[in-house]
Amino acid sequence: MSNETSGRGRLAGKVALVTGSTSGIGAGIAGLFAQEGARVLIHGRNEEAGQRVISQLKQAGVPDEHLAFHAADLLDVEQCRALVRRAGEVFDGLDVLVNNAGDFTRGTIDDTTVELWDFQMALNLRAPFLLAQAAVPLMRERGSGSIVNIGSVNAYIGGQNLTSYSVTKGGLMTFTKNVARQLARDHIRVNQLNVGWTLTEGEHRVQTKEMGREDWLEAVALPTRPFGCLLSPRDIAFAALYFASDESQLVTGSVLDVEQSPVGGS
Ligand code: NAD
Repeated sequence: MSNETSGRGRLAGKVALVTGSTSGIGAGIAGLFAQEGARVLIHGRNEEAGQRVISQLKQAGVPDEHLAFHAADLLDVEQCRALVRRAGEVFDGLDVLVNNAGDFTRGTIDDTTVELWDFQMALNLRAPFLLAQAAVPLMRERGSGSIVNIGSVNAYIGGQNLTSYSVTKGGLMTFTKNVARQLARDHIRVNQLNVGWTLTEGEHRVQTKEMGREDWLEAVALPTRPFGCLLSPRDIAFAALYFASDESQLVTGSVLDVEQSPVGGS
C-alpha cells in the first residue's frame, strides 16, 4: 500500500512522524524507521537535540533527504496541528504517525495535583487525539495510513503512584480501539503498544529521583526483571515497525503488550 516504492526496507516509500523522538523510545523508533527506508520527521522541543539525532542517523547511513526536524510543544493545540502540517509539507504526505511523547511524573491518589492531572491529560491523551485528527485527512489522501500509540502496561490498572498517568494510557487504549473502528473503511489502522519497563533517559531521571540513588538500575531494578534486563528502545521499535509496515495491513484496534511477563495488573 505504499505510495512509492523507491528505496529498500520494510518502510520504503513511507513518510513517518514520531513524536518525542529526540530521546528514549521515540528516538529508537525514529532510528529504526529511517533505517527501514522511511522518510522521518523527528520531533522534540529542542532544535539542538533534534539535529543531534539527525546527524547520528546520517552517520549510520540514512540519506539526508530522508530526515527533518520540527520543534513543537504538544501542550499547545496549534503547535500539535502545525507539526502534522509540517510532516505533510516536508515529505509531501503522511503514512505513519507514532504518538510517543509523554510524561510519567508520579502521583498517588493523595498527592496528585489538579495541575499534574491536567498536564498529563493534555500531553499523553489530548495531544495524540489532536495529532491523529490532523493526520487523518493526509492519510485519506494517501488511501491508507497507520497510527501507532505508545501506551503502557499501566493502562490496565497502574502502579500505586501512577494515578493520572495510568488513566491517560487507559484512555489512549480506548481511543485506539474507538478510532480504529471509525477508520477501518479508510484503510487507516490504529494500534497500540503497551510498553513495559524500558531503559530511557526519562526513566533514568524519574527512577533516580524516586529511589534517591544513581545505581537504581543494577541495585534495585535488574534483580526483579525476568530476563535480568530492562527493555530497550530498540525492543519497542521492532514492535512499532510491525504496526507501521504493510506486514500488519489487516490489523487494527489491536493492543500489544511489549513486556517480559504476562501483564495482569498488580
Ligand atoms: P523520554 O523522557 O526519554 O521521552 C519522552 C519524550 O516526550 C521526550 O522526547 C520529550 O521531549 C517528549 N515530551 C515531553 N513533554 C513534551 C511536550 N510538552 N511537548 C513535546 N514533547 C514532549 O521517555 P520514554 O521512556 O522514552 O517515554 C516515551 C513514551 O513511552 C511515553 O509515552 C511513555 O509514557 C512511554 N512508556 C515508557 C516506559 C518506560 O519504562 N520508559 C514504559 C511504558 C510506557
